Amino acid sequence: MNLETKYRIVEIFESMQGEGYNTGMLAIFLRFGKCNLACAWCDTPYQKFSILTARDILQKITQYQAKNIIITGGEPTIQPDIQTLITELKQLHYYLAIETNGLKPIPKGIDYIATSPKKAYQAIYHTKGITEADEVRLVVDGDMFEFCQMIESKIQAKNYYLSPCEINGQMNIQETMQQLGKLNSRTNNPIHWNLSLQTHKLIGIR
Ligand code: SF4
Repeated sequence: MNLETKYRIVEIFESMQGEGYNTGMLAIFLRFGKCNLACAWCDTPYQKFSILTARDILQKITQYQAKNIIITGGEPTIQPDIQTLITELKQLHYYLAIETNGLKPIPKGIDYIATSPKKAYQAIYHTKGITEADEVRLVVDGDMFEFCQMIESKIQAKNYYLSPCEINGQMNIQETMQQLGKLNSRTNNPIHWNLSLQTHKLIGIR
């Protein structure tokens, strides 16, 4: 690859995955700048990024112990030349997980897809977006029942999660539990929704 190719990077750090199916997995977080949505409760400073070359990124990543990379954002799928970087990381034998809002196609070579469609943009999701993922993780932003049913019918996934929304340090955990109870009490519906907590926030790690 051209090692001088430039990317918008918010941060690169090593930590444990705090949420979803891979909770606890040691991973390098590769967070890209910019997003194609603008959620009111977004907790990521995706507009504050630096321009790093592929060389810078690879140098930083290879300093860490983890062999798993969580490619996140912002929105990673809108990054120019993302496929080139992913192909390079794959050739270095990293396990690649992506976190995406699911509106754009997933680059080739990704090992695990976690998608988080947003209810506030449900009109867009009716007509656009990916149809397969390993994990669907929806943030509870109001009554999710109809949106969850729409997403179930649209995205085939191995696991479905509801995640509390955090605003000013407060998480709507009780509301999330109530909505899980309602979803999982449907008769003749084989899809079970699970709870995903942002445990990294609860224990104060990145
Ligand atoms: S899709 Fe994700 S990164 Fe983009 S604005 Fe919404 S919460 Fe933030």
